[in-house]
Amino acid sequence: MKTTVKTLEGSRQDLFIDGRFVAPKSGVYLPSYDPTTAEPWYAFAQGDAADVDAAVRSARAALVNPAWRRLTQTDRGKLVRRLAELVLENADELAMIECRDNGKLLKEMRAQMRAIPDSYLYFAGMADKLQGDTIPVNKLDTLNFNLCEPIGVVGMIIPWNSPLMMLTGTLAPCLAIGNTIVVKPSEHATASTLALAELVIEAGIPPGVVNVVTGDGTTTGDALTRHPGIAKYVFTGSTFTGRKIAGNAAENLVPCQMELGGKSPHVIFSDVDIDKAVNGVVSGVFAAAGQTCVAGSRCFVEQPIYDRFVEALVARTQRIKVGHPQVEDTDIGPLALSAQLAKVEDYVASGVREGAKIAAGGRKPQDGELARGWYFEPTVMTEASNTMRFMREEIFGPVVGVVPFKSEEEMIALANDTEYGLASGIWTQNIDRAMRFARNIEAGTVWINTYRSAAYMSANGGMKNSGYGRRGGFEVMREFSRLKNVVIDY
Ligand code: NAD
Repeated sequence: MKTTVKTLEGSRQDLFIDGRFVAPKSGVYLPSYDPTTAEPWYAFAQGDAADVDAAVRSARAALVNPAWRRLTQTDRGKLVRRLAELVLENADELAMIECRDNGKLLKEMRAQMRAIPDSYLYFAGMADKLQGDTIPVNKLDTLNFNLCEPIGVVGMIIPWNSPLMMLTGTLAPCLAIGNTIVVKPSEHATASTLALAELVIEAGIPPGVVNVVTGDGTTTGDALTRHPGIAKYVFTGSTFTGRKIAGNAAENLVPCQMELGGKSPHVIFSDVDIDKAVNGVVSGVFAAAGQTCVAGSRCFVEQPIYDRFVEALVARTQRIKVGHPQVEDTDIGPLALSAQLAKVEDYVASGVREGAKIAAGGRKPQDGELARGWYFEPTVMTEASNTMRFMREEIFGPVVGVVPFKSEEEMIALANDTEYGLASGIWTQNIDRAMRFARNIEAGTVWINTYRSAAYMSANGGMKNSGYGRRGGFEVMREFSRLKNVVIDY
């Protein structure tokens, strides 16, 4: 891999179309910022509609190119396996690139990059397991069967928090199926996707199978979602953008898979080990400085332990070390964007105006190096209510609101009183209660006595305004393939 943090520094990154890096037709490059210093550190190409068109044409040509189309399933699986090996070989460099781009902890990014190859291997193994079926149609001398085919060119639009992990969940299965791809990474973290593109070619995957067009949402993203040559979109990002993309896609009758925002409830009953539950809540909401879609940002605590729980949560939160993401003992790095920091500050202030109290954190650290970057202290808000704005809208920052509840009925009503339905968590020793929660909660994922433990082997996705479609497991293979019905009279 030629792209490294060293080569990126001060460089201009081109688009990746048809197996080559090419300059954008407009000649425009935009700055990418380092969240620890708020300084630009490289520039990426602003792709326009003409660049997007070139990428989609390349992906369409690759679909019918015998070098890709006529590969056996086993050989396609081998190429995906080779890509897995290359990602593993370059895991540390890829981790460093993402850490510099989005400010997430280096140790966490390293762990993520070392885990991503397993996901490629899992889907590589499915390349030869996607089957059609034969259908009994009550007619003699007729064979009626479904062929299972690649769906076509898949347009993927991803966010800045964990770009490669987000991408892998659909890129790996789409390659295993035989689709071709145009990816638009976030304008706030483009470099790792471009670095991956180099590995795609090194793995022997033919040019045009994976294309990367960088640029902002309103220019590049908009052009991609209006292109008539796409068979399906994968979008991971905010509900606000998801609506726009689904609208554009609908003009061409193109289906989408949407992984959107959340405002996930995290419920604590009095029969639990408080310290264990506190740790679950802390990692569930403060990991990645709260910039995870599944962040358990609404915490409902059963009344009898409310005071003790809040005390323990505040004490634990105050021990969290905010610091530079490359320092080993840092627990929380900066937010990825300045706009994100402003948003978090605004939500905390709005909570205070509506009557909530800041029990821990609540401000940007003022000392030394941290004052330069986009850091924010992990924040616990008490005397919160589910009606306050900061408890209804996705903050995407390190802020949790804590609310007491008296009964199971009240808790489930509060937990479901949200436009979102991505994830949920419950801590209790009562299995009946946990199962009632699993049945009644409106969320795509339910964690019982754990939080944020996701696996690419299981189908996951959202409900309500958190999106539709499922990733993971075999489910995703169905989402990105299609059936063609064939009838033979003999
Ligand atoms: P975002 O919606 O601002 O941007 C996501 C992507 O969409 C970016 O690549 C952006 O350039 C592009 N985009 C923006 N406007 C567009 C437009 N008009 N047309 C086409 N593309 C456009 O989201 P973000 O700030 O990058 O990421 C944070 C959001 O992502 C949060 O809401 C978070 O919950 C969500 N998210 C969801 C999941 C999930 O699995 N459900 C995972 C990670 C992040």
